[in-house]
Amino acid sequence: MSYDSKYFTNCNICPRQCNANRYERRGSCAASDELEVSSIVIHKGEEPVISGEYGILNVFFSNCNLRCIYCQNYQISLNNQYSKKYIVDELVSEIKKLLPLEIYHIGWVTPTHYAIFLPEITEKLRSWRPELKFVYNSSGYDKAAMIRLLKNYIDVYLPDFKYAIPDIAQKYSHARNYSQYALSAIKEMIYQKGTNLILDDNGLAVSGVIIRHLVLPGNIENSLKVLDILYDNFGTNIWLSLMAQYTPIKQLTLPQELQVSLTESDYNKVIDYLEELGFYRGWIQDLEAIDEYIPDFAHTSNPFDCN
Ligand code: SF4
Repeated sequence: MSYDSKYFTNCNICPRQCNANRYERRGSCAASDELEVSSIVIHKGEEPVISGEYGILNVFFSNCNLRCIYCQNYQISLNNQYSKKYIVDELVSEIKKLLPLEIYHIGWVTPTHYAIFLPEITEKLRSWRPELKFVYNSSGYDKAAMIRLLKNYIDVYLPDFKYAIPDIAQKYSHARNYSQYALSAIKEMIYQKGTNLILDDNGLAVSGVIIRHLVLPGNIENSLKVLDILYDNFGTNIWLSLMAQYTPIKQLTLPQELQVSLTESDYNKVIDYLEELGFYRGWIQDLEAIDEYIPDFAHTSNPFDCN
């Protein structure tokens, strides 16, 4: 099995629909037809049902179709640093080499622009270890049609829902239509998995959807509207992960409001509203516990262990 080459001759895989012939030039996501990965690393910092005791093996794809101006992973998403080209069999071999027996979750991080490779990779890994679970960790800027293609290959969806306000989505990610696409993609994810998170005997997620929202400084109204949209479309039974870990990155040119960290009073407004709406499943990241650090992908053995 391999992907249908038509996807790359006139690429419309993601909502950018930039029509790049990826065999000849890179698209708006900076991806070509070749699979590029910047890091494959065991990560323990995800939600407890994803990381568990031993962590998840995260595969960080290079480049990105959303390209937020403040990206915490800017080295690999915006600058295409540390990327390595793989053919599918090489990537499968590398994952097999790095995945210890006690870990059975593999995270595809920022996979949207390479999503058509995932069915083949997944089948090859499942034929090796059938118990493996696959986590699709995207920015949410996905097309529902592509999520439908992944139906049999993803166990847990972990999308962001970043923006509810088109002007904010445009200002920070050049994606005025973000919320419309993210909402349809998440609807498809929930159609596939339902709103329940199914856990195994070890307390690890084996099926479901967890929606992440990173609260940005100076953008509380956006966060409140994100919660409104989720409430209006899915009610309170969904699993939410509210995140406070935004860190301004010196190397990036940021507007003034993004040059500072999130304040406690702003974060509390979002938490209060989340509780007022009645959301009751998920995680609220502790602002006090956030260390000011960003991953450094130059530390190839573990970008998250660089302080
Ligand atoms: S995945 Fe990349 S090349 Fe394809 S439509 Fe999106 S931005 Fe363009």
